[in-house]
Amino acid sequence: MSILRKGRYVTGIESREMLGMMEQLRYNGLDHLPATRTRRISHMRVKLQLVLCSDAGQEETVTEVITLNKNNQCIEHLGLTLAEAKQLLSTLQRHLLQHQVDTFLDSRFTCPDCGALLKVKAHTSRSFRTLFGTCTLDSPRLEHCDCTRRKTVSFRPLSALLTESVAPELLYMEAKWSSLVSYGRSLEALKEG
Ligand SMILES: [Zn+2]
Repeated sequence: MSILRKGRYVTGIESREMLGMMEQLRYNGLDHLPATRTRRISHMRVKLQLVLCSDAGQEETVTEVITLNKNNQCIEHLGLTLAEAKQLLSTLQRHLLQHQVDTFLDSRFTCPDCGALLKVKAHTSRSFRTLFGTCTLDSPRLEHCDCTRRKTVSFRPLSALLTESVAPELLYMEAKWSSLVSYGRSLEALKEG
């Protein structure tokens, strides 16, 4: 699986028409006309999409990650704010994790010995803390197939992937920060950052 992030921005609903018009004006050598500037819309909608691709590069799913409404009338409007960056990263993290977990679980729903579909015994969930937010993920309990003798009746396949409830990188950052400041304050700083 490879993942691409695609950024597309749309300056208002007339953007396509405006682009067409600009091209036409350029073709006619008239793109310097002030009339083309007055049609620019000060408000900008930025849509970010997560495009998941197969190894062959074929687009499989396109998910809207976030839509930002941006102005451009003063210096404070420029670029991303901290709040937008945090929202963007946490939303992206949630979609990415969910897709990775779903892909992992898909391959665990069949018996490795005979290929039979396994029954869901219970629906449970797991929480996973990462640098970009805590995600709650579905973790079904499946019944083992009775074609082979096993030690347990059921199992949760996600436990093989989520061996910890905290991402290694977050653990590392927490340890690093706690060596510099008190533990409580480093946790606070990580949350704020
Ligand atoms: Zn089986």
